Amino acid sequence: MKPALFAYHRPQTVAAALALLAEFDDAKLLAGGQSLGPMLNLRVARPAHVIDLNDLLELDFVRRQPGLLEIGSLTRHHRLATDAEVAAACPILAAAAASIGHYAIRQRGTLGGSLAHADPAAQLPLIATLLNAEIVVAGRTGTRMVRAREFFVSSLVTSVQPEEMIVAVRFPAFRPSQGWGLEIFSQRHGDFAIVSVAATVTCAPTGKVAELDVALGGIGATPLSLHARLAPFRGRVPDADWSAELGSVAASAVALEDDARIPAAYRRELAMTLTQRALMAAVERGEERNNG
Ligand SMILES: Cc1cc2nc3c(=O)[nH]c(=O)nc-3n(C[C@H](O)[C@H](O)[C@H](O)COP(=O)(O)OP(=O)(O)OC[C@H]3O[C@@H](n4cnc5c(N)ncnc54)[C@H](O)[C@@H]3O)c2cc1C
Repeated sequence: MKPALFAYHRPQTVAAALALLAEFDDAKLLAGGQSLGPMLNLRVARPAHVIDLNDLLELDFVRRQPGLLEIGSLTRHHRLATDAEVAAACPILAAAAASIGHYAIRQRGTLGGSLAHADPAAQLPLIATLLNAEIVVAGRTGTRMVRAREFFVSSLVTSVQPEEMIVAVRFPAFRPSQGWGLEIFSQRHGDFAIVSVAATVTCAPTGKVAELDVALGGIGATPLSLHARLAPFRGRVPDADWSAELGSVAASAVALEDDARIPAAYRRELAMTLTQRALMAAVERGEERNNG
């Protein structure tokens, strides 16, 4: 199937892209086209104007700053997966990007496009939620910053307004002893996850958990951070009981009902098991980073 007719625009600057967004009510931004392309072809999306961002090379960057990693919205998944700076400062982001779809998709898909598309099972929204990344959104009157945990409103809905665009995302840099785990369960290689779990764990020299975060994808309308429910799990030895209890917390957070393909009980089982695995991997990696 072919898209409905639209006018095509290819701005050369962010300011020009924002001016086009302000000028046309019925416009869609095109980044990697890996989600918008199929939606246009299936006529699920029928914008009158398409604004192609692919000449905005100013939005394709990875910058290390004190305590954080700032990444431009047009940065492709492949670069996130292979960039040495990303691997060093935010290894879970590199791993998540490497796990997206297939090579061809990673070559085109972008960080900004993935966050804006806001698929509740997608990897980059999951990592942004886990780390509560700062999402920098530009409009005609300036930029504003939205924390990832407030950014995703519902399935395929974010707090980006029609006249705005994502220009960058700031991820906190990993601390030396911070370990991570990422578990993605899909039916076939390259498919979207049914359930995904990302976790970070930092242990004190005593071996007890000092810092901990867990986020889940594919369990509700948006990726979910368990941050507010994790206080009882800090200050404990990260043993099998600890991870099993956390697995139960994750399973109880599953909000989706049975659907035609996946029973809710199956998602809960996955949330429980994947959370335990992600946590134990995070503890192990933290130990390795401490020893290495
Ligand atoms: C076969 C297939 C398998 C896939 N598997 C996975 C997977 O396993 N995991 C996964 O996470 N993803 C998967 N994807 C999706 C892929 O990661 C997409 O690249 C991503 O969802 C959208 O990014 P994009 O750059 O292609 O955006 P586009 O498709 O160009 O745009 C998507 C949406 O974002 C908006 N948008 C784009 N850029 C901006 C911006 N800077 N500011 C505001 N709005 C913007 C567009 O207007 C559009 O609404 C898959 C895609 C395909 C085709």
